[in-house]
Amino acid sequence: MNAIGREPIFVERGEGAELVDVDGNRYVDWVMSWGPLIAGHAHPDVIAAVTEAAARGTSYGAPTPGEVELAGEVTRRVPSAEMVRMTSSGTEAAMSALRLARAATGRDAVVKFAGAYHGHVDGLLAEAGSGLATQGIPASPGVTAAQAADTIVVPWNDRDAVAAALRARPVAALICEPFPANMGLVKPEPGFLSFLREVASEAGALLIFDEVITGFRVSPGGVQQPAGVTPDLTILGKVLGGGLPAAAYAGPAELMEQVAPAGDVYQAGTLSGNPLAMAAGLATLRMLDPAAYERLGRTSEQLAEGLGRAAADAGVPATVQSTTGLLTLFFSSDPVHDLDGAKACDLDAHAAFCRAMLDRGVYPPPSQFEAWFPSLAHEDAHVERTVEAAREAFAEL
Ligand SMILES: *Cc1c(COP(=O)(O)O)cnc(C)c1O
Repeated sequence: MNAIGREPIFVERGEGAELVDVDGNRYVDWVMSWGPLIAGHAHPDVIAAVTEAAARGTSYGAPTPGEVELAGEVTRRVPSAEMVRMTSSGTEAAMSALRLARAATGRDAVVKFAGAYHGHVDGLLAEAGSGLATQGIPASPGVTAAQAADTIVVPWNDRDAVAAALRARPVAALICEPFPANMGLVKPEPGFLSFLREVASEAGALLIFDEVITGFRVSPGGVQQPAGVTPDLTILGKVLGGGLPAAAYAGPAELMEQVAPAGDVYQAGTLSGNPLAMAAGLATLRMLDPAAYERLGRTSEQLAEGLGRAAADAGVPATVQSTTGLLTLFFSSDPVHDLDGAKACDLDAHAAFCRAMLDRGVYPPPSQFEAWFPSLAHEDAHVERTVEAAREAFAEL
C-alpha cells in the first residue's frame, strides 16, 4: 500500500470473492492472497478438508497418503513433472531447484529475467519483480557479492540477450516465469518459450519454469502444457496449497532422484508436505475441472474487457494484458513487453486509480507490478461492481 500512498487493509475475514476489514468495510477482492485462492476465501470444501485433517494431527515428520495423492494430482497435470518434492514455500522450492540444477550440471551461474520474481532467494533478488519492483529496490542489501556474481539478468522477450548470456559463461540454469506476472502480466512473444528451450539445451543448461503463479491457474498444466514447451524442472506453489503453505519442485525422476535421501543433493523441511496444506491443496485441485477453467476464463475476459472499455471511454491511456485467471491494467498506451515497459507506466495515475477503487469497495492489487487474480468465487455481479467503480475512478483521474 506504500506504493499507492495508503494505509494497509487489516482483514477481519474473507467470504468467497469478498474481504471484510476490521472496520467492517467490505471489498471485492482481486488480490486473493496473491494467487493461492483460486476457489475464493473459505471455500466449504477446503475448510472441511483442513478441519478433518487437523483433527487427525497437524504434523508428523513422516510421510502421509496426502502428499502422495497431491503429488499424483501434480504429475497427472503438469507435463514435466514425473517426480515431485514438497516444500512449504515457493521461495524454498526455487532455491532447491537451483541447488539441484547446479549439482546436476556442475556449474554455478544462473540466468534470470528482469522483472521476474522467484521468491526471496538471495541470488535471485537482482532486478526482481513483485515487491522489489513496487518499492524500487534494484538489488537487496544483505545479498553477498558472490551470490550476485552468479546471477545474470537479461530483459524478458530479448532473444539476443539470452543467447549472449548463455555464451558468456557456463550456465547451470535458465529460470523464467513462462507467463511473468510479477511485473504485471507480460506474456512471452510468440515462439519465445520454444526459443528458451532450444538455447538452454544447446548450452547444456537446465530450463526451469517457475509456475508458482501460473500452475493450475492458466490451465490444468500451467503454461507449459498449452505452450507445448517442457522445462527440465518446474516450480509450483500458491494454488498448489489452496491457501495453506505448500509448494513443490518437480521434474524427471533422473533429476529428482539426485535429491536426498535418494541422492546427495540435500533439502529438507520440518513442515514440508504438511498434512493440512496437502488437504487444502487436494480439495482445491479437485475442484478444477474443465468447467472451472471455462468459468475462470470467462470471468477474466469480462473483467479485462470491462476495465479496458472503461479506460477508453474516459480517455485514460491504458492497456489490459490478460489470460485465464490473470490480468494487469497497465497505465500505458503501448503494450508492455518487459520490465522497462512496466516501469514506464504512469505509476501516479495507477496509484490514484487504486485509491479511488478502494474508496469504492474494490481491492485491486495496489502495485503496477502485480496481476489481478480472478477466482471461481467471482460472480458477474462482482465484475459489474468493479467495472462501475473503475468508470468512476477513471473519471476522477
Ligand atoms: C509468489 C512467488 C514465488 C514465491 O513463493 P512464496 O511462497 O511467496 O515463497 C516464487 N515464484 C513466483 C513466480 C511467485 O509468484
